[in-house]
Amino acid sequence: MKTNPHMKISLGICLLAGALWGCEAPKEDLDTVLTKINKDVLANSKAYQTLEDATSTIGHRLTGTANGAAAEEYAYNLFASYGLDVKYQPFEVVSWTRGTIETQIGAEGKLEYLPSVSLAHSPVEADVTGEIVDMGNGIQADYEAKPGAVKDKIALVYIGILPDSPEGTSNLHRSEKAKLAIDNGAKAIIIYNQVKDKVLLTGTASVDGDLIPIPAVCIGYEDGIALREKMKAQKQFARVQMTNTSAPIKARNVIATIKGSELPEEKIIIGGHLDSWDLATGATDNGLGTFAIMDMARSFKQLGLKPKRTIEFIMFMGEEQGLLGSRAYVEEAKANGTLDQVKYMFNQDMSGNPIGMNLGGRTEAEAFFKEVGQKINGIDSLYSNLTRTGAGLHSDHQPFMLEGVPTMSPISNLNADIFLCYHADCDDFDLIVEEHILNNVRFSGMVLYALADADQLPAAKLSDEETKTFMQEKGLELKLRLGGDWRWGM
Ligand SMILES: [Zn+2]
Repeated sequence: MKTNPHMKISLGICLLAGALWGCEAPKEDLDTVLTKINKDVLANSKAYQTLEDATSTIGHRLTGTANGAAAEEYAYNLFASYGLDVKYQPFEVVSWTRGTIETQIGAEGKLEYLPSVSLAHSPVEADVTGEIVDMGNGIQADYEAKPGAVKDKIALVYIGILPDSPEGTSNLHRSEKAKLAIDNGAKAIIIYNQVKDKVLLTGTASVDGDLIPIPAVCIGYEDGIALREKMKAQKQFARVQMTNTSAPIKARNVIATIKGSELPEEKIIIGGHLDSWDLATGATDNGLGTFAIMDMARSFKQLGLKPKRTIEFIMFMGEEQGLLGSRAYVEEAKANGTLDQVKYMFNQDMSGNPIGMNLGGRTEAEAFFKEVGQKINGIDSLYSNLTRTGAGLHSDHQPFMLEGVPTMSPISNLNADIFLCYHADCDDFDLIVEEHILNNVRFSGMVLYALADADQLPAAKLSDEETKTFMQEKGLELKLRLGGDWRWGM
């Protein structure tokens, strides 16, 4: 080890002063800490092995099921085994679980069975028959072009944006498409997937986590395209029968804490959803993010890092059913007056192999993260230090962003086959590349430390009025209105 002259002097002062008022080792500079994190993760990371272990021993991690509870315990025990302070944050929610589904489609009187899955928050029981109407992308423009067309009929919509759409057409979330179908009087909605080979996708069709009044199903891409073609020649009909359950359940967020050394009342949250859908093991959505976060906590603890601010490493449950765990966290923090302590929320959802950071719409934070990113790039040029400043919804950062808390997330550079299995029956551990998860632990871990130890944070909490303007400027007002999250009136 090289001794630097400053260290000698401070050690000297330390020895003299130590007897009088105690003494701490001088704090290492940022470059030294980032290098340490990098080395530790490359040598000691447990992210890949623990994710493999959890997916093979637990299976899926659906909130409110025995599997979900097992995942909560797994995370709790893993944090504890690393020596971290860890606690459960219990919450109660009404949770939806799929039951049976049967979808038949064809010309009148000639319906045939088609593979399908129910989208979450479809009714507990439904048996609906009707004519199918092609609503294109299922966005506002499609309904404006065909007013009244789906009234008492079944809407067929594409989950993506069809290639023949006008340039610049922006997509809506499946739940927003379902909301538009409901608002326009449809009696069911059939969404066809964009992933080839009849991959079926699940996810919520509800913008607010409540049950929707009509059945929503997903069918395979090829089946959707074929159906559209048939409809050009002859009217097509569908019968959708399903049963589901919706009942109150208990779930637990898992929170591990490293207390801040100088500003313990200020919290930096790094969080992601531990829960997954039940069609597969959710290795990428969101094993990738959560098992990386647990390993960052391991590394920080092992290295004895003491950033200025407190870090909370949070495993949220219930994200897939409507951000239930992160909403519960924010509600509890508001109720007990601690929300103002939350200074930043770093969300990890399907994050891997990051090459930069998305700054959640906070352009003012760009200079800070560019500077930190330059240091990371100096350690490993794989981190190319991109920044983006768009703001989006539909993950656990949303409830925080709605309270004006600055949020961010990694810009992931992952293989395309991972995204094809999003919410689908192929989201399993064979998609995980060890290097991708390691790179996330290293790079996100370094960014997290720099943020938690910053002299001054790069972005501040917005007031209620500023938050409203922010949402409008980021083009999120309509989406928030659809989701029942717009609280600023007309
Ligand atoms: Zn996710």
